[in-house]
Amino acid sequence: MKVLSLSRALLATDRIRERFRSKITKEFEVLAKDCATCEVRGSCCTDEHFVNVRVTRLEAEAINRAMEKLTPETRARVLERNYSSTQRLSETRGFYSCPLYEKDSGCLVHNEAKPLPCIHHACYERREDLPPDAMLQEAEADVVRLNALVYGNAWSSEPIPIAISRFVPEKP
Ligand code: SF4
Ligand code: SF4
Repeated sequence: MKVLSLSRALLATDRIRERFRSKITKEFEVLAKDCATCEVRGSCCTDEHFVNVRVTRLEAEAINRAMEKLTPETRARVLERNYSSTQRLSETRGFYSCPLYEKDSGCLVHNEAKPLPCIHHACYERREDLPPDAMLQEAEADVVRLNALVYGNAWSSEPIPIAISRFVPEKP
């Protein structure tokens, strides 16, 4: 039984994301390497041996809505990459090059739908400067609870390419 509307759950997910982002940015990211000067910029999003971010259906819905605001050309490029990443998932054992990364723009859902593990991630010189995993787990648990209120327990978290393909299943 649906006990929370999708629109209210998306708003609540936004609040969780922005609270989490604010804490990470203010308390931890100041100690991290500056992505603007990174010599391998974007590899953290496109390395198919490294990226294994999984999202709930609610987060997938937020990604889908953010994708609907892209230009047709950009959206087509995302879907092309998504198809390719999806095809390779079994070979790469669930890791993938994220289709939402574009060389010139970075993460295409940065403002509206960036997944929590992506916000949590940065490159730190010292291990003790990293944000605690418990912070991420707590925020993720809040989103999972919201997700269950809307969709029940029917949809477990999935890799981003699979989540996108559920909204746009056909080959681009
Ligand atoms: S998170 Fe790390 S690898 Fe990714 S762009 Fe920033 S500094 Fe580079
Ligand atoms: S969602 Fe954005 S930040 Fe996360 S892996 Fe994809 S492009 Fe990178």
